[in-house]
Amino acid sequence: MAKPAPTIPALRFNRLSAEMHQFQSVTFTSPNPGKKLIVLGAVHGSEKCGTVAIRRALAEFETGAHSLARGVVTFVPITNPKAYAQNTRNGDRNLNRRLRPEAVPKEFEDHVANWLCPLLKQHDVLLDLHSFQAEGQAFATLGPENNQDALEPFRWATEEMALIQRLGVSRAVDGWLSTYAVGVERRRETRRSEVGSNDLDPQYGVGTTEYMRSQGGYAITLECGQHSDPAAPDVGYRAILNTLAHLRLIDEPDPQPNTKMEGLRLHQVIDKVHVDDAFARSWKSFDPLMKGELIGTRNNGEQFFAQENGWIVFPNAAAAAGTEWFYLATANPRF
Ligand SMILES: [Zn+2]
Repeated sequence: MAKPAPTIPALRFNRLSAEMHQFQSVTFTSPNPGKKLIVLGAVHGSEKCGTVAIRRALAEFETGAHSLARGVVTFVPITNPKAYAQNTRNGDRNLNRRLRPEAVPKEFEDHVANWLCPLLKQHDVLLDLHSFQAEGQAFATLGPENNQDALEPFRWATEEMALIQRLGVSRAVDGWLSTYAVGVERRRETRRSEVGSNDLDPQYGVGTTEYMRSQGGYAITLECGQHSDPAAPDVGYRAILNTLAHLRLIDEPDPQPNTKMEGLRLHQVIDKVHVDDAFARSWKSFDPLMKGELIGTRNNGEQFFAQENGWIVFPNAAAAAGTEWFYLATANPRF
């Protein structure tokens, strides 16, 4: 009589969240002490230029075209493999919001966070490569000036500024988390009944770079260009090499700093209240605003005029009611 076939125990894992995805990082370590750099691609799955750029740099380390003179470099070509496989911005949610380890992971991004957050903590500097939907030139974002405030205490502003000036882009933006926190405060005022929802938590503004700063490091997000721009991977690749040279991880000359960057500071975020709140024209991100210019009109007739000269940033005509409609920026005194 034939032996009964062995029974294979059912795999026990959360099919909704962790199904068939694995995380990859590749680390090169020099025997010589130095900075520890981590480079991320595809934190948003449809932003693939960083993946291409990172794989190119990684291959050059593997073939010996570059060698690590000091310190550590870790490459993460695909940070969010579920979103990457789907070619969507998010898997279950935006990885770049409320990023922190989760004791009880539920959504796929919670699993990413539980792998990524300790990995970030092992490094000193983060370069996070993204791309964007609309037309426009590459830009980079940096953290706050040095401060001891509760929201985002920081002491590497000089180092962050030196790095952003060497990435090969000419536009820089700061003020993200503080502007986001003010927006959260306003939402709390107007939507007291919904306390507990994600976008009412100031920590919801914490993405990769904010998390890195909270762990004692510093970090730049580089938006390399439009998703489909064939030049975007080159922008990312150049920034990786420039960062490696600037941090003295490879023995190449420190790139010349761009001391004439256009600097913007986010200072206000306006939410849509009604889905039919409408822009006065089809704004593009970084369109300049003249003081007194009409930006948009709410469904109830309330009009928004620019209070000063500046820029409109991340306008989203398709935003849902209660979510971010547009940001306002002014000239940044740091630049
Ligand atoms: Zn992105």
